[in-house]
Amino acid sequence: VWGDQAEPIDVVGLDGDDTLWRCEDLFHEAQRHFRAMLADFADDETVDATLSRVERGNLALFGYGIKGFALSAVETAAQLAGPHLSAALVEQILDLARGMLSAPVELLPGAAEAVAALRDAGHRVVLVTKGDLLDQERKLEQSGLADAFDHVEIISEKNTVKYAELLRVLGCPPERFLMVGNSVRSDIVPVVELGARAVHVPYHLVWDHEHVGSWAGHPNVIEIANLSELPALLATASAVRPG
Ligand SMILES: [Mg+2]
Repeated sequence: VWGDQAEPIDVVGLDGDDTLWRCEDLFHEAQRHFRAMLADFADDETVDATLSRVERGNLALFGYGIKGFALSAVETAAQLAGPHLSAALVEQILDLARGMLSAPVELLPGAAEAVAALRDAGHRVVLVTKGDLLDQERKLEQSGLADAFDHVEIISEKNTVKYAELLRVLGCPPERFLMVGNSVRSDIVPVVELGARAVHVPYHLVWDHEHVGSWAGHPNVIEIANLSELPALLATASAVRPG
């Protein structure tokens, strides 16, 4: 297929956040509110830079997701406000996180149709997502797609080791696996390292941390504008060559 591979695709892995449903918009909006909360203590650039540094430092222990963000926001506020950090401000930050955790799930264009079409075409369709377990389960449930997947994998980190484990559990050789997602770091690079194929669906907002790596020119990767292009791409995959 593309990458001059002849193996048919058995399993299609789909990323959740910013591939099937919107996510980064929530963080973007929350960060805007967070800057306003700290306006008495620091300018916007300082708030952003401090939060980014604190989040990176905490990732290995807190993991991805809204709860990790909230803890890092409290730590950032403590650093910037010092002894002026009030209980009211901590409460505001927690309210911000609660709002994010209960925000309605908004599917991206073509997502539901693509999942249905892939299953109709005989592929096994698997959700592969990272972040808070509770939050990802809630989003899957609210998305209406819970019954559409053959398997759901919510993992702490998307790296080559985790993908290899997943393929072993699914009994799928890498040559027959395709991963579809918005993050080059999480959905593309570790997958093609295994010899599998990937479809990059860029999203207009990218968190700093995910803004790493490049697949430019890699023969196992192809880019589409949104998920509605995916079923036709797979159907005609043998005719496709990366541009
Ligand atoms: Mg994503």
